[in-house]
Amino acid sequence: MSDCIFCKIISGEIPSKKAYEDEKVLVFHDINPAAPVHVLVIPKKHIKSMADIKEEDLSLIGHIHWVIHNLADELGLQEGYRIVNNCGKAGGQEVPHLHFHVLGGRTLSWPAG
Ligand code: AMP
Ligand code: ZN
Repeated sequence: MSDCIFCKIISGEIPSKKAYEDEKVLVFHDINPAAPVHVLVIPKKHIKSMADIKEEDLSLIGHIHWVIHNLADELGLQEGYRIVNNCGKAGGQEVPHLHFHVLGGRTLSWPAG
């Protein structure tokens, strides 16, 4: 998607502070962090939102969560963390490229929003 900001981050056209990368996903620090640790985990495949995934994407969604599991220690999230996916307008999604927020580094309140 040529006009997608996260696709531009994947291609390097827009710079980001990378935390992890493999052939399927990119993890980078949120430009406007809501917690001491706030990274975004995105698939390199352009998928608009969780409402748009197909059955063929299930292993990719699982991989994203496995990456988060494996990265938590390195990010200093031993005390815990929160994974957030905003889906669609009412869900508060602003960037239409599937992404999972990983938040931590402080005690997070609940419920959100
Ligand atoms: P959402 O509201 O779930 O779509 O979240 C989009 C997130 O992307 C927000 O937390 C923004 O701060 C973040 N964001 C937008 N542009 C950039 C960027 N260029 N680099 C890093 N994070 C970004
Ligand atoms: Zn995209």
